[in-house]
Parts: sequence; C-alpha cells; structure tokens
Amino acid sequence: MVQHFLRPASPAEAVALRKDTGGPYLAGGTDLNWMGPPSAATLVSLAALPLAFLRSDGPVAEIGPTVTLQELADHEGLSTVGLEVLRLAARQVGNRSIRNLATVGGSVAANKPTSDLIPPLIVLDGTVRLVTDGGEQEMTVEQYVAAPPAEALIVELRVPRPDSALRVALQRFARSANDLAVVNAALAVRLVAGQLAEPRLALGGVAPKVVRVPEAEAVLAGAEVGKDLAGLLDRFAEAVAANIAPVADQRGSASFRADLAVQLARRTLAACVTDKGG
Ligand SMILES: Cc1cc2nc3c(=O)[nH]c(=O)nc-3n(C[C@H](O)[C@H](O)[C@H](O)COP(=O)(O)OP(=O)(O)OC[C@H]3O[C@@H](n4cnc5c(N)ncnc54)[C@H](O)[C@@H]3O)c2cc1C
Repeated sequence: MVQHFLRPASPAEAVALRKDTGGPYLAGGTDLNWMGPPSAATLVSLAALPLAFLRSDGPVAEIGPTVTLQELADHEGLSTVGLEVLRLAARQVGNRSIRNLATVGGSVAANKPTSDLIPPLIVLDGTVRLVTDGGEQEMTVEQYVAAPPAEALIVELRVPRPDSALRVALQRFARSANDLAVVNAALAVRLVAGQLAEPRLALGGVAPKVVRVPEAEAVLAGAEVGKDLAGLLDRFAEAVAANIAPVADQRGSASFRADLAVQLARRTLAACVTDKGG
C-alpha cells in the first residue's frame, strides 16, 4: 500500500528521493496502477517537474517525458517536420482515456515488448537524456531499451528531424483497438535515386523487448527497388523469418507471432518504397 507520496521540484531531487526510498517514479500511473494499486510504499511523483515541453521547430524535436501520449498525438508541428509517425504511434495506444494519462517517458521506461512508441523512436535514431545520481547522460533509445540504467530519470527524448529522403512506415496488429499490439513493426530507410540506404527495422512482440533485425536490414542496404521489388520483398521477409524466435503468450502463439512479424515487416517495406511512403 502507498504510504508516502513525494512531489520533488527538480530532476536531481527526484533522483535522490528515488535512490533513498526505492519508490518508483510516478508519471501517468497507467502502468503502475494496472491491475490494482501499486505495491510500492513510496511513489516519487513527476507531476511538479518542468518536463512537459514539446518543441519541434529545430533540427531535433525535444519532447519532455511528462508530455502525454494524447498531447503527442495532437502536436501538428511534428507532422510539419516529417515526424508524423510519432503522432500516429501515440494515437495507436489504447484509448483516449489512457492517452490522456500515459506519458512519453512512462511509455519508454515501461519498456513493453509491444510498446507503440519504442519502434519508431528506435528507427528514427531517437535518444534519451537521463539524470542519474552520477550526473547527466544521453544514449540512444535502442541502448536504453536494451539495458535501462537503474534509477535513471528520463528528462528528455530527442528525435532528429528526418530529411526528405527518409521513408518511415509503421505496422501493427492487435486483437482489439483497446489492446496492446500482438506484434508491431517500424522501418526507416533512405531512398535515393531508387536505391535503399541506412535501413533500420524494429520489431515488437517477437522478443522480451523491442529489437532490431540486422540480418533483414542487410538485405535492404544498397538494394535497388526498381529492379526486382517482388524478389526484394521476399528476401527481406525470409531474413526476418530466419532471425526471430517469438514465444507464445495470451495474445498469440509463437508461430502466429512469427507469421505476423514477417507480414508486417514486409508491409513496412512495401509502404516505404511506394510514392506515399508509410
Ligand atoms: C488499458 C491499457 C491499454 C494500453 N494500450 C497500450 C497500447 O496500445 N500501446 C502501448 O504502447 N501501450 C499501451 N499501454 C501501456 C501504456 O502505454 C503504458 O502503461 C504507459 O505509456 C506508461 O506511461 P505512464 O506515464 O502511465 O507511466 P507510469 O505508469 O507512471 O510508469 C511506468 C513505469 O515507467 C517509470 N517511469 C515513468 N516516467 C519515467 C521517467 N520520466 N523516467 C524514468 N522512469 C519513468 C515508472 O517508474 C514505472 O516504472 C496500455 C495501458 C493500459 C492500462
């Protein structure tokens, strides 16, 4: 049962309280309150921290961790700078009631295997700025997801503004509109004069965390989309199939997840190489 509700006024104070009490950070509370009250005796609320900023007009979009997913979905400035996929990913989460509470920082820190926000953040080469009791550090979202530093407070997400050659596509399959995805996929790839470069594929729901699939990315690097697109799609799909090993859970069997991952990855590629992109 919660006995102490702490409301630090600065990130450094929040980190110190987290370290001293062991109480988790409380952002929107949708994950911490899921299936009943939190078991922790102390909660370190992020509500009083000045971390709800969202600036998208510079070369890097700067997103405060306490921005809600609905605020992210509604932020038209992201579309203007080529980051529409972040709005789309946020819109895909649960329902409006959840999105009005759930935060960007909480979504990344909760580190769910089918988070809707993590795959696009990874393929867009997003980074997190962290405050720890040892000071500040920055790492890619991919590094954070793989090994989140204990007790670190996310104080900013940074996403570079894509140039016009970057194509990005998202795909998702869920049992219902309200449910977490069974599998999701994000692909970003540059398309210059018909040739693909710097592909980044992130898949959710095929491992305990969102993962990239470098073997499938290697199929795309340098490929020419005008030559044998059907063959390229097949080789890409085969590389995905050969390099994932999902496990079963209540949302789907291992083989269902594997099939979904292959089909969704294939669709992201098809979307990226058509005129409309994702
Ligand atoms: C009904 C329902 C449906 C959902 N559907 C989806 C879906 O479709 N897609 C999807 O991606 N997700 C879905 N979710 C998950 C939801 O997105 C996450 O629960 C939510 O994003 C967590 O954010 P929060 O602000 O509520 O975090 P909290 O619950 O407050 O915290 C979650 C975790 O993150 C830590 N944390 C929070 N902020 C920070 C920070 N700034 N720095 C470091 N650690 C921090 C907390 O200590 C805690 O461990 C769903 C959840 C529910 C309840």
